[in-house]
Amino acid sequence: MRILVTGGAGFLGSHLCDRLLKDGHEVVCIDNFFTGRKQNIAHLFENPNFEFVRHDVVDPFKFEVDQIYNLACPASPPHYQFNPIKTVKTSVMGAINCLGLAKRVKARVFQASTSEVYGDPAVHPQPESYWGNVNPIGKRSCYDEGKRCAETLFFDYHRENHVDIRVIRIFNTYGPRMHEADGRVVSNFIVQALRGEDITIYGDGQQTRSFCYVDDLIEGFVRFMGQTEIVGPMNLGNPGEFTMLQLAELTLKLVGGKSKIVHKPLPADDPKQRRPDITLARRVLKWEPRVPLEEGLQRTIAYFRGRV
Ligand code: NAD
Ligand code: UDP
Repeated sequence: MRILVTGGAGFLGSHLCDRLLKDGHEVVCIDNFFTGRKQNIAHLFENPNFEFVRHDVVDPFKFEVDQIYNLACPASPPHYQFNPIKTVKTSVMGAINCLGLAKRVKARVFQASTSEVYGDPAVHPQPESYWGNVNPIGKRSCYDEGKRCAETLFFDYHRENHVDIRVIRIFNTYGPRMHEADGRVVSNFIVQALRGEDITIYGDGQQTRSFCYVDDLIEGFVRFMGQTEIVGPMNLGNPGEFTMLQLAELTLKLVGGKSKIVHKPLPADDPKQRRPDITLARRVLKWEPRVPLEEGLQRTIAYFRGRV
């Protein structure tokens, strides 16, 4: 197949391009390099099955493709809050442009949605049936509501125009090729520990997240896109749940060094807990994350060691 990946020069997108090429497909990658970078895909430039186009998904695009994976959107809070109006445009207009193209060329189209659609969840762990607890006017809203609106558009195009959609809700995923200045917690802690700087915990560190290693997630993407039983939404993530204090301590243990843990103010609307209910993915995809946190962290630390 010929497959379009938007946001393909980012952390997840570049791993997805690798996987699709390995599976024998042609890949067209588009990205505006807002948070992605050339070095994530530089190793693919010589591959005759890979094409890169620098393009912003807010502007329409046309490609003859069989499938579309829509990943274009900054994912880290400091980056999506840098220009919040642009973040909404990227999510909403990017979705419209992907869906319009999918309708025209009859391509199956995948949306990288997020656990953020559950906001600061009052139901724990979060099943797909939970409608969420999202502040519509806060600092995180440009991302959360942009992604929620994108889901709405996907389901409306599906109902109205029979577009063949797949919607995945991704829970915190980490691994090699995260940007060292990404700002998300795993890369922050590793980079701080490697540089011997203070490890910055926001708030008291009792808030929880569930961390999925990138290879497990990409396997889930491909399985989900390859099945015809359901269109989603489907949670993908690792149900192992950790406090940020536990993550900081584990990172320090694995990296070694003399970093101290310090506390900084908790950002507004920071969700207190998050863990995916992956019953649906287990049943439909026969999918289960395989890489435990400690092993995934070791692989990620090895990637960052040579770079910071
Ligand atoms: P990332 O920031 O590394 O990747 C996003 C990519 O999209 C970057 O390459 C960026 O340059 C590109 N991009 C941003 N705006 C664009 C635009 N207007 N036009 C074209 N390209 C644009 O983040 P990631 O972790 O790889 O996330 C990929 C997708 O997965 C995002 O949609 C994100 O919301 C979603 N997601 C990720 C996670 C996670 O834990 N990694 C969790 C939930 C959802
Ligand atoms: N966090 C932290 N220190 C950091 C970066 C993040 O304690 O240097 C916390 C953040 O407040 C949140 C959790 O780690 O509670 C996960 O943050 P991240 O930005 O990675 O993802 P999200 O909040 O979107 O799940």
